[in-house]
Amino acid sequence: MSNKIQAVRGMHDILPEHSPAWQFLESTLREVLASYGYQEIRTPLVEKTELFSRSIGEVTDIVEKEMYTFDDRNGDSLSLRPEGTAGCLRACIEHGLLHNQVHRLWYTGPMFRHERPQKGRYRQFYQAGVEAYGMAGPDIDAELILMASRLWQRLGIAEQLELQINTLGTAEERLAYREHLVVYFRAHHEQLDEDSRRRLETNPLRILDSKNPDMRALIAGAPVLADYLGEISSSHFRGLTTALEQAGIAYTVNPRLVRGLDYYSRSVFEWVTQSLGAQGTVCAGGRYDGLIEQLGERASHAIGFALGLERLVSLLEHTAIPVDTAPHVYLIRVGEAAEQAGMLLAERLRDAVPGLRLVLHCGGGSFKSQFKRADKSGARYALIVGDDEAAQDRVSIKNLREEAEQLSLSWGDAIDYLAKV
Ligand code: ATP
Ligand code: MG
Repeated sequence: MSNKIQAVRGMHDILPEHSPAWQFLESTLREVLASYGYQEIRTPLVEKTELFSRSIGEVTDIVEKEMYTFDDRNGDSLSLRPEGTAGCLRACIEHGLLHNQVHRLWYTGPMFRHERPQKGRYRQFYQAGVEAYGMAGPDIDAELILMASRLWQRLGIAEQLELQINTLGTAEERLAYREHLVVYFRAHHEQLDEDSRRRLETNPLRILDSKNPDMRALIAGAPVLADYLGEISSSHFRGLTTALEQAGIAYTVNPRLVRGLDYYSRSVFEWVTQSLGAQGTVCAGGRYDGLIEQLGERASHAIGFALGLERLVSLLEHTAIPVDTAPHVYLIRVGEAAEQAGMLLAERLRDAVPGLRLVLHCGGGSFKSQFKRADKSGARYALIVGDDEAAQDRVSIKNLREEAEQLSLSWGDAIDYLAKV
């Protein structure tokens, strides 16, 4: 009978074979963010439930049905964070970072949503997010998009991604638009699916975001928000598109792009790929000026985006990743004296050659079995210490990847030799 415990459904392990892609993604991301002056912030995985219901919105998919919510022992309702924007803003308000200040921030870590697990959709998944506070835009809107675009270039996945942008106007403009939208959808009530009928009463803009193909034609005929924008919102959007054009960033205006969260206003954008099937959005974001006031702080400006790291790693797995995590050296040692000498030599080498990746064979075994391990490790060189070598403070070096003569070197010469690899 098997009683092995398995991971929670939708919560996946990232096994060592996938780590090079994750590390390449994360280190490249850090470099790109640093090159634009963004600073890291870390916030708790758990927040008061109210933070999410007040910011993301009561009638969004996330708050309605996707949150991991539980009562703490003292009766407070807490939730695992489903995204990072709310917690980041909460932290900045709590620590007085927003008043009359400008901040460029980023974070990364796991997020939790109780969704139906499938490829590219998990219940615990990683996001990296960027938030910029105190800037009215549209220059900062453009900076965020340029920064994402530079990231795609550096990752080697730019060709697989397409940028879609839209403007959601202000809350007042959306209210006016909403009325026309409701009139339109009411007139076609019999064509609405069940979800959309519900949304018609609660959050009609979200109907535009429906993933149901049967709804596509109806949605295509709906009024567009752009026709209800005032001059300030229109010129903000023009400012963004002009900046993108000047920077040579290709984009498509998608008037149906509404985003699933309630807090957005004006610029919204998504980077999508055709390479990953249905879950094709790898980066999504937009401006959310209103949220700051909604969380009880004096009004200011905010814009951000979030990257879905699992989806980006899937894209990277189709490309060559320029990271090598295999050891440089595998140290083989057979015999009692050799075992002692080998461990000393390994430490000596690590002192002398920072950055050297050296695996010391542990657990004994014959030369033959240790060589097999060395080969399997992917190491370029095997260092070999037998009792003869140990007695003379020498070591043999064998290149495991190319035809070359095996060398016998003093420890000092071995250090010099490996310092060059
Ligand atoms: P979707 O329409 O795919 O549900 P969303 O609008 O809910 O996305 P956001 O909240 O904007 O997504 O999250 C930003 C990004 O995080 C998404 O574009 C996606 O790449 C990733 N993401 C969101 N939910 C999940 C999930 N359950 N599993 C893996 N990645 C996710
Ligand atoms: Mg979602």
